[in-house]
Amino acid sequence: MSELFQLKCPSCCRPYGNAPITFCDDCFSPLEVAYDLKTVRGLLTRDKIESRPANIWRYSEMLPVAPEHRSGVPVGFTPLVHAPELGSEWRAPDLYLKNDSVCFPTLSFKDRVVAVALSQARAFGFKVVGCASTGNLANAVAAQAARMGLEAWILVPANLEPAKLLATAVYGANLVRVDGTYDEVNRLCVEIAEAHSWGFVNINLRAYYAEGSKTVAYEIAEQLGWRLPDNIVVPMAGGAQICRIAKGFRELVQLGLVEDHPVRLFGAQPSGCAPIANAQRRGSLDIVPERPNTICHSLAIGDPADGHRALQVIRDSGGAAESASDEEIVAGIRLLAEREGVFGETAAGVTVASAGKLFAQGRIPADQTTVLCITGNGLKTSDAIGHLYPSTAAVAPRLGAFEQLLNVPAGVA
Ligand SMILES: *Cc1c(COP(=O)(O)O)cnc(C)c1O
Ligand SMILES: [Zn+2]
Repeated sequence: MSELFQLKCPSCCRPYGNAPITFCDDCFSPLEVAYDLKTVRGLLTRDKIESRPANIWRYSEMLPVAPEHRSGVPVGFTPLVHAPELGSEWRAPDLYLKNDSVCFPTLSFKDRVVAVALSQARAFGFKVVGCASTGNLANAVAAQAARMGLEAWILVPANLEPAKLLATAVYGANLVRVDGTYDEVNRLCVEIAEAHSWGFVNINLRAYYAEGSKTVAYEIAEQLGWRLPDNIVVPMAGGAQICRIAKGFRELVQLGLVEDHPVRLFGAQPSGCAPIANAQRRGSLDIVPERPNTICHSLAIGDPADGHRALQVIRDSGGAAESASDEEIVAGIRLLAEREGVFGETAAGVTVASAGKLFAQGRIPADQTTVLCITGNGLKTSDAIGHLYPSTAAVAPRLGAFEQLLNVPAGVA
C-alpha cells in the first residue's frame, strides 16, 4: 500500500484501498482499517508519542488520515482519573474513570470519531458532510464541520434532549428532526448519502469514523504508564467503540508499545434498548433488533451496526454485558457525581450501574485494575434528573435568615 493504511474486510481479508465504502462486496461484513504495522512499528515509539501535543493526533501513524488532511482540531487526551470513592462502594481500590465528558470540543467521546471521519471526508473531496445521530455525534459533527468550513446536515430522532439540539444548532449546522427512531433516521441517511454523494460520518465514512474510538484505548494504556488494564466497562450503542477499544489494545501489543496482557471487555446498555447485552446473555452472536424505550437517548440504537462484532470481541475477551433500567441509570449518575465529583450523562449512568452489577456478581474481580468509560457530559441530559432537584426558595441576605435555614432538617431547604 502507498499509504500506511487501507480498508480491509475483517472476515475474508479482501483489501479495498481507501474509499468511502462501508461493506465488503463479497461477504457484507463492515470494513475495517488495516495498517502496515511493520513500518509503523519502526516509526512510533513511546518517546515520540510522549513528546507530542496531548491530543489524538499524537498517535497519527495509527490513524487513517494522511498528514496533509488532518483537521488539527486538538481532540482527546482526556483525564484518566483514579476513583477511590466510587471504588470503595465496590471494594475495588484500583478503579479508574476515563473521563470523556470533558473531551474537546463538544464534551463527549464522539469528538474523537468525528475528528478522524471529517479529516477523511476532506481527503475524499466531500463538500457536504452529515450524520444520523442520537445526539452527541450531532454536536461533534456540527462543531468540527464549522471549524473545517464544511457544510453539515444532521438528522436526529425528534425526541432528542433539548440541550443536544441546541448544542448542534448553535454551530450553524442544518439540523433536521425526523419523526422516527434512530434506526429509521439511519436508513434515511443511507439513501441521502447515495442520492447526493455526501459524506456521512457514520455511514459511508464509518470505517474511518470507528478508528477514532480506539484512541481511548491508546490513551488509557499510556496514562496507566504504558500498560493494559485488566477490565474495561464500555457503554454500547452501535457497538463501534467497544470493538475499536479491543482493536486499539491489540495494536499496542503488536507495535511493541505495551506488554501483552489480557483485557476483559464489558459492555453496558440501557435495559430499554439492549440488543447487544440481551444477545450476550442468551449466549448468541445474533442481534434481535429492539424498539428503544429509555431515558438514555445516546445509547438508543435498536439495530446496532457493529452489534455482531461487539458480541465477538466481548466473548473472545472473556467479558460480559450488563444493562441498567431508567431508575438505575439515574442512581448511577448520582453515585458518580456524589462520590467522584463527575457529572456524566445518562450513558455514564448506564456504565456505572452496570459496573456495580458486574462487581456484585464477581464477574469483575475487585482486586484488579478496572477502567469505566465515562463518555458524555451530564449537562447535556439534565432533563433526565432535573425533577429530582427542584429549585429552592430564596432566603433573605441576612445571617438570621441563614441561621433559620440551618435549623431546618437537611435536604428540606
Ligand atoms: C455514541 C455513544 C456511545 C456508544 O458508541 P458506539 O460506538 O455507537 O457503541 C457511548 N456513549 C455516548 C455518550 C455516546 O454518545
Ligand atoms: Zn469480505
